[in-house]
Amino acid sequence: MSPRLKTKSCPVSVVTGGAGFLGSHLVDSLLLKGHRVIALDNLVTGTVENVAQNAGNPRFRFIQQDVTEFLFLEGPVHYVWHFASPASPVDYLELPIQTLKVGSLGTHKALGLAKHKGARFLLASTSEVYGDPLVHPQPETYWGNVNPVGPRGCYDEAKRFAEALVVAYHQQHDMETRIVRIFNTYGPRMRMNDGRIVPNFICQALRNRPLTVYGDGQQTRSFCYCSDLIEGVYRLMMSPITDPVNVGNPMEMKVLDFANEIIEVTRSQSRIMFKPLPQDDPRQRRPDITRARKQLRWQPVVSLRAGLEMTADDFRARLPSGDRDAR
Ligand code: UDP
Repeated sequence: MSPRLKTKSCPVSVVTGGAGFLGSHLVDSLLLKGHRVIALDNLVTGTVENVAQNAGNPRFRFIQQDVTEFLFLEGPVHYVWHFASPASPVDYLELPIQTLKVGSLGTHKALGLAKHKGARFLLASTSEVYGDPLVHPQPETYWGNVNPVGPRGCYDEAKRFAEALVVAYHQQHDMETRIVRIFNTYGPRMRMNDGRIVPNFICQALRNRPLTVYGDGQQTRSFCYCSDLIEGVYRLMMSPITDPVNVGNPMEMKVLDFANEIIEVTRSQSRIMFKPLPQDDPRQRRPDITRARKQLRWQPVVSLRAGLEMTADDFRARLPSGDRDAR
């Protein structure tokens, strides 16, 4: 059978933000599962290098496009995975209007595409919908504590609006929709300069430079390895659950302890340097994953140590050779 004929019977997935960190891991995983995949990305924070390994695969296509503009695609589409958005606090501080636009207009266009094609739609939402949470750990039933006019407002409110829009399309147009609330995720392909804790600390450690801990480092996060996250997202899309589902790792850590863990994993000579805490930085964050455990039979399986080692290897390979001090 020719490759063209073979691809005809595959499920077809569209991944917005398909050249980003999580979008590209999702693309790879869908191709492995036999989907035909169309990745859309405007390359504002993504890069084609993240999907270059799929060049020449007859089931893969990349289209450079801003998802806030009208999306026209020929042929059937069965699944739309809406992953496009700047996702690092540093990025969305620099790109507040694009962040608001992709969460609102981009979600509208992606929903419109899914509606037109009769496709199932999944929104990549975020733990940021909980803001600086007053309930801990955070279950999906918690409504959050968000400052709409603070530095994180552009991202948090765009994602909250996106969730509301998805619910409206589900109710009004009877569309099949899914909402995943993604907690801190890390792994290979994170942009080295995206400003988030994992790229910052790993680059600093590999260069034997001080690790910049913001505030007193007592704030907490819970870190999920990317392959675990993608598995949870896939299970959700294939499930009948329309309510939001948290996907993340419930192992909570203080930022200061995390810095020391990275120094250990990379066998670095780095020390810790304290810097001011950014405004509205959430004090604590940890997903309650009871819903994912019970309804998706999902939980993370990659240990922090193993995940950090794989991530450090990827960063080491990408760092210019003069910068690779730590082994
Ligand atoms: N952080 C830090 N040093 C850095 C980068 C981040 O101490 O160089 C802290 C940040 O203040 C926050 C946590 O690490 O408390 C996670 O930050 P990140 O930007 O990764 O994402 P967030 O979870 O805040 O959205």
